[in-house]
Formats: sequence, structure tokens, C-alpha cells
Amino acid sequence: MVETTLDETHEIQLKSWVESANQPEGDFPIQNLPMGVFEQPGDRGAPSIGVAIGDLILDLSGCGAAGLLDIVAPAISQACTARSLQGLMALGPAPLSELRLHLSRTLRAHQPNSNENSQGALPHLIERSKVRMLLPCQIGDYSDFYASIHHAANVGKLFRPDNPLLPNYKYVPIGYHGRASSIVPSGTPVRRPYGQIKVDHAETPSFGPTASLDYELEVGFFNGAMNPLGSPVPIDEAESHIFGLCLVNDWSARDIQAWEYQPLGPFLGKSFATSISPWIVTLDALAPFRVASASRPESDPPPLPYLSSPRDRAKGAFDVRLEVLLSSHRMRESGIEPVSLGRANLRDLYWTPAQLLAHHTSNGCNLRPGDLLASGTVSGAPETSKGSLLELTERGRKPITLPGGEVRSFLADRDEVIMRAHCERPGFARIGFGECRGVVLPAENGVG
Ligand code: MN
Repeated sequence: MVETTLDETHEIQLKSWVESANQPEGDFPIQNLPMGVFEQPGDRGAPSIGVAIGDLILDLSGCGAAGLLDIVAPAISQACTARSLQGLMALGPAPLSELRLHLSRTLRAHQPNSNENSQGALPHLIERSKVRMLLPCQIGDYSDFYASIHHAANVGKLFRPDNPLLPNYKYVPIGYHGRASSIVPSGTPVRRPYGQIKVDHAETPSFGPTASLDYELEVGFFNGAMNPLGSPVPIDEAESHIFGLCLVNDWSARDIQAWEYQPLGPFLGKSFATSISPWIVTLDALAPFRVASASRPESDPPPLPYLSSPRDRAKGAFDVRLEVLLSSHRMRESGIEPVSLGRANLRDLYWTPAQLLAHHTSNGCNLRPGDLLASGTVSGAPETSKGSLLELTERGRKPITLPGGEVRSFLADRDEVIMRAHCERPGFARIGFGECRGVVLPAENGVG
């Protein structure tokens, strides 16, 4: 397995000459350096790869054109000038670490050559608030898992109180193939979908706008280097195929889903939209926040050999603190801050990302650079740790009250869902994921 090791780029005392990167609660200090694709307003050029640093973005295309990336291998600097992260993703982990080290040194304050670095890079820094973030790449395939046992048990209880977990859960990482074409970057409004719905007391279904629109708090893993068709990735090599992590909101229409999901799983109840945060936090940046995989009760079956590895048990999980918030239209009008609906931690998943990737490829399925795998809704054991309204309101039976007095069983039109994540650990700089946002638009008239 490729060890994501700690190096000089993780040192807590590193500061950047970009002053806004040195705020202790900021998401994008010099220890993070997440990558994304942005576009400047107007016709100021094509989409470009950038690295977030404080309130700014370092434009890697510009840096490449100015010769500031000449120190790294030509394949890396070449990939930095593309309009998508796919080329960089395909290179695998070693070149990415090389690029990270170079960018860290370029943006670092108090280096012998820091004046020279800042002079060269200064023209290629852009205010983050002035650009539009795009998808990081064209996503070829998207698979969504069901890796949180707390979520699986919470949902299972609603439908099968006596037997919440199905017998396969502790053996096989459950997943389904999602829709890649409807993945949108944070900030894109999401229209309430129409679908076929059969309400509980009705004999037959009808077609109309969903009445139970929900979010799912998830984390996505972008695939990096590809594995050829027919070549499974062994668990101890799986992480060298993961480029980085982002937030995912797997919007779900529970009424459409409930009617259609048997026997082949989710389909139109989910394929209308999936939102992702635009900054991909690399595995290198996450190295200080690696922890043991969640412990399993003695009575649980051990993972089958192809999903089992001492290294994965010791360090396969990610200590990422997740939060989902809601802001209604009325709350925004009244100046009320978004309300937190749940906090969870990625480390509590039953299956690690390496296990998910090893399982996905175990039949020979090829994953390509830019494919997206998502964790499934991340929930935890506490009541305050539910990653969907389905769980929080028990399928709408126990509505919640928002600050200001509005009541929600599921999402209302013009509600905004906001997801955030960060990592923190004593002795290391806090790093953040930025946000994944989306406002619900009313259903389009006349579709039905
Ligand atoms: Mn999901």
C-alpha cells in the first residue's frame, strides 16, 4: 500500500505569504492545498485548474504558462494546464505529492527565496469570491455506497423494526450505480423532481412533484489512476487509486424511491441531481487525519480476505467531521443563521474507502480517472448524528421545528441545504473542505 506519509508540507508552523491562509479557522491553509476547476466571469479565458489558498486561488494554468512549474516533471506541469483535473488524477499519487511539495514551497512565507516565489506567483492569484467553480472533471461513472451501518440501521428500523439490517450487510459493501450526468457543483439550484408516487393508502400510483425531498450527507472519493478492465485492485493498493475527497449531497425523493426501488434499487428517486463541493482535498492533505477503521463487535463476521488488511484496519479510516445545515427562505429573509441538523464523522463508516474501491474492482470492473465513488449517507450512533431527514424525522412522522417556527418533515421549496467538513487534530493545522450548497427550486409547472 502506498503510505500517505507526513512530510514538511504538513508542519503546523508553516505560514503562507497569502495572509488570508493563516487564519486559524480557515478551510484552506497552506497545509491543505485542495484542487478544483474554476472559470472567471466574462470571457477571460477557458476553465482553469486552481489550488485554494486562503481567500485566493492559485491559477495553475497561468503558473504553467509562466514557467513557474518547470521544476516539476513535464507530465505534471502539462497536466496542470488542462481544463479538467482528469490528467492530474490519472498520474497517480507520486506526481501529486511532487506537485504539492512545490506548491507548498512556492506559497510559503519566510523561505530564503520567498520573495522570488511571491513575485512569480502573484499575477496568478485570483480572488475566490470572483470566480465560478465548475465540476473538477467530466465524471464518467458514479457509484454510491451504503457504508454507514448507523444509517443502514436507522433506515432499516423504519421499514423492518425487528430486523433492521439485511443479512448481507456485514459481508458485502452495498452500492448502486448512480447517474453521472446530473452531478452538479455546489451552488447549482436543484429543481424539485416529478415522479411516480404511490401514497400508502392509494391503490395505484400517480405522477407529480415529490412531497418528500431529502438530502444525504455523504463524502465522495475521486478515482485517480485507472485499473485496466479485468484487473481488480488489491485492498493494499486501493488508496493509490484515490485522488481525493469532496462533500456529496445525494438528493433523494423518498416517495419516488419507495415505489420504484424493488427489486433493482434506486433509480429516478436519486438521478435528478447530486451536488458536490468543488474543492478536492487530496489524500496527501488528509495524511495527518488517518485513523483506525471503526471497530466491529466480536460477534460480527470478519471481512472476507479480499476486503481485509492489517494496514487498512490500522489506518484505513479518515477522521473528517461533517455537518449538514438548513436555511429556509424565511430564515434568510429574517436574518436567521442556518440551523445545524446533524453532525457525523467519516471515521464511523463500516467499510473504509479502500475496502469500497477494492470491492468495486473485485469483479474486474475498471474505474477510470475522474470516476466518483460516494460513501452513502454518513450517520453516527448519537441522535444528533443523522445524515438525512428520512432518519431525523423518522420518514416524516416526527417533523422538526426550525428557528423561526417553521416545521419540516422533508425539504420545502427554496430551502437551502449546506454541507461542511473539516479535520482537526492537536499538533496539526485544521483543514476544511469548503461547502456543498444547493437551493431547492419549485417543481416546474406543466411537466405532469
Ligand atoms: Mn446516497
